Amino acid sequence: MALRVGIDNLQRATEKLIKRLFTEGVVDAIADVLDDNVVGFSPSDHYYFRGSWEVKRFLQGEYERFAPCNISKIRSRQFIREGQLSIESHVIMTSLQQRKLLLLNINTMYRMVPDGFMINGINMALDYDREKTYKVLTETAMDDLEFLASYDSATGLLNREAFCARASDMMTDYPEKSFDILRINIERFKVINEVFGEHQGDKLLNYIAGFLKSIDLELCLSARLYADNFVVCFESGEGDAEKLIYTMQIVANSFEISHRTVLTFGIYHVDDKSIPVSTMIERANMALNQAKGNHVMPYCLYDNKMRDQMLLEQKIVNEFDAALEHREFKLFLQPKYDLVTKDIIGAEALVRWIKSDGTSVMPSVFIPVLEKNGSVYSVDRYIWEETCRNLRRWMDLGKEVKPVSVNVSRIDLYDPELINVLVGLTGKYNIPKHLLELEITESAYTDDPRMIMQVTESLQNEGFLILMDDFGSGYSSLNMLKDIHIDILKLDMEFLRSTDQTGRGGNILSAMVQMAGSLNLHTIAEGVETEEQAEFLKSIGCNWVQGYYFSQPLSVEEFEKLI
Ligand code: C2E
Ligand code: CA
Ligand code: CA
Repeated sequence: MALRVGIDNLQRATEKLIKRLFTEGVVDAIADVLDDNVVGFSPSDHYYFRGSWEVKRFLQGEYERFAPCNISKIRSRQFIREGQLSIESHVIMTSLQQRKLLLLNINTMYRMVPDGFMINGINMALDYDREKTYKVLTETAMDDLEFLASYDSATGLLNREAFCARASDMMTDYPEKSFDILRINIERFKVINEVFGEHQGDKLLNYIAGFLKSIDLELCLSARLYADNFVVCFESGEGDAEKLIYTMQIVANSFEISHRTVLTFGIYHVDDKSIPVSTMIERANMALNQAKGNHVMPYCLYDNKMRDQMLLEQKIVNEFDAALEHREFKLFLQPKYDLVTKDIIGAEALVRWIKSDGTSVMPSVFIPVLEKNGSVYSVDRYIWEETCRNLRRWMDLGKEVKPVSVNVSRIDLYDPELINVLVGLTGKYNIPKHLLELEITESAYTDDPRMIMQVTESLQNEGFLILMDDFGSGYSSLNMLKDIHIDILKLDMEFLRSTDQTGRGGNILSAMVQMAGSLNLHTIAEGVETEEQAEFLKSIGCNWVQGYYFSQPLSVEEFEKLI
């Protein structure tokens, strides 16, 4: 096929072809008008190509080398040398991939055919002349710097700042319309990078970016915020968000690696256009965090309760350091009993946050927040040390000392210093290690079983006893117990509460206790609230108990009166 233009328009037509190639990646517009015997040449790289197929591939490669690109200027001239009609073009463009301004000289040679022109030679060279580049830079600096500053170089999507600015403009430009902010995150993206290589990770990011660029909605902006976090702002239409989410999930699933790529979504329906776009993005993120781990449909819509929760979390984080310094965290002890002998067989150490004004915050409120922001280990260490200090004191007072179990957060398990810290504390207070029992929650085992097994084994080798806390609350099975080495199984109180002793729940509980027994594991039931529960536990051979029926968690002074 020929380029159907007159010679007067050849120069402009050539510029258009170049523009489409570099800014849109449209190779076919040029490929369609290549002569079968066309020759391609890239002098700077010493490449030489012959035939339309090879030259097309060469052009494709050149596009990919620089894309995404912005062309700020093309200057060309037409001339005839030794009978050859040529268009020489100087292209000034910014390559996001290379993050710089480039000067490209392109020489397009034409052969005249009855219905127009065909390309029989094409020659592309980067102009490395620094001086020229510098001159160009000052000429076009404003546009290009803005371009470089607006886009994310890895994917060619808008970056955060540009997204915020443009989304804000879009919302002001269309005051009568309503918008949705959708945040997208790739689940376990780190794993993909580690297992399949960063190259695959980058490819996946581009794959998703490619989809976002192709969204066919009139008012729509998308950006990559950082790492594997994307955001889209679009005019809300009935069911559009769901459709988008559904399609994206399918698109992600079809990504070429042998790992099911799962995306998580959070939506903020913009009900208040006066707040900054960055806050809207944050709200969509709160919804996304709620959606995480929700395997059926990993998306969530923002509501104000999430904001209240976030404010509460913020408050906890803000007040935490001072609280630690002012010793507002207190050790409480909940006794554990033997149902047969009625003796106290030990206790669990539980933290209480009692503020200077007398109000207190329960651990179920602040521990998850501190786990998230990583400072839980300061609390844990404090409680461990308080426990050791009191054990020592009781020993010195000549009391008969029973073991106290402390809670070990999952993030403590990732701390390489964990063993040293625990060994250090028992050493400092000179107490036998079996008196400090360690409770590790069941869900930690399901997170990373191999790592946890290694850590628990080393702790056991040191002489510590390991309790698996909250058993029955998570997804782990009884089968798992065969493979991991723990000393005591703590049956979750929720499990007990949902158990009517006569029905199925009772049977399951009884089977658990039996199975644990056959594995030489002791069991203790926690959250025992009634006499009936206690009787039932006794009847199935679970004699160790802890719960309000026997005693609330007590202050150290109160606990001492008991023992
Ligand atoms: P957990 O380890 O499962 O602790 C048992 C919780 O059950 C305690 O709540 C205890 O007060 C409560 N409980 C005891 N008996 C009964 C009962 O009969 N009925 C009911 N409904 N509840 C009962 P608490 O003290 O509010 O602690 C909540 C969670 O916070 C703990 O659950 C534990 O996961 C965490 N936690 C507490 N102290 C610490 C700590 O020092 N470090 C860490 N990392 N986590 C802690
Ligand atoms: Ca516990
Ligand atoms: Ca528990």
